[in-house]
Amino acid sequence: MIALRNTNEIQKISAACKISAQALKVAEEYMKPGISTKEIDTAIYKFIVSTGAKPNFLGYGGFPGSACISVNNVVIHGIPSKSVILKQGDIVSVDVGAVYDGFHGDNAYTFTVGEISDEAKQLLKVTEECLYKGIEQATVGNRIGDISHAVQAHAESFGYGVVRKFVGHGVGKKLHEEPEVPNFGKAGRGVRLAAGMVLAIEPMINLVGEDVNVSSDGWTVTTASGSLSAHFEHSIVITDQGPKILTKA
Ligand code: MG
Repeated sequence: MIALRNTNEIQKISAACKISAQALKVAEEYMKPGISTKEIDTAIYKFIVSTGAKPNFLGYGGFPGSACISVNNVVIHGIPSKSVILKQGDIVSVDVGAVYDGFHGDNAYTFTVGEISDEAKQLLKVTEECLYKGIEQATVGNRIGDISHAVQAHAESFGYGVVRKFVGHGVGKKLHEEPEVPNFGKAGRGVRLAAGMVLAIEPMINLVGEDVNVSSDGWTVTTASGSLSAHFEHSIVITDQGPKILTKA
């Protein structure tokens, strides 16, 4: 059952999304050599609770952080750690959400530490473009497959690997709701999109190959090839006037 949110619910989801987006701005301040991913997580935690919201990742399935912080070849679900220290040239994906007044927000951004390689720059640019190409397709009467196909086609036109194992999702009263929003698929297939659907669209794109491994900690997802991976995410609502991004600071 896919929820269609009313105006009041969308306002509440927007409030949670705004805090989620502001949490990414907090993270951005810490993208410096010598900073540990645990320090970033602590700053995010303090910010989110200061707003009266709660970090919705903390304790989710036992996850120990307020944000997933995934460096270089880590695709998603990196556990914040005192022993993961940022260095010049790293790319750092931060995925964070807040729950406020019973509703959830979710977003992600891949940051850079100092100067990064040209191939990393292009991966980040293209992955963010994939997100916006997906969002463009989130219109009334289109289907989930239109979003999926737009993301996949753009990434693969650069020879990149689209992660299959993890997908976007509905977001609202829970962090993860129906429908699934894959980053691969056929245009014109899948659930028909309607006004009031709130989706977290989140391309996860590998420089080389689509395969990923889950580490023995049960969380950390890495590229099978060892290559870099990028992740960008917005929570959006579908309206009769088109998609509206809710995760804006
Ligand atoms: Mg998500």
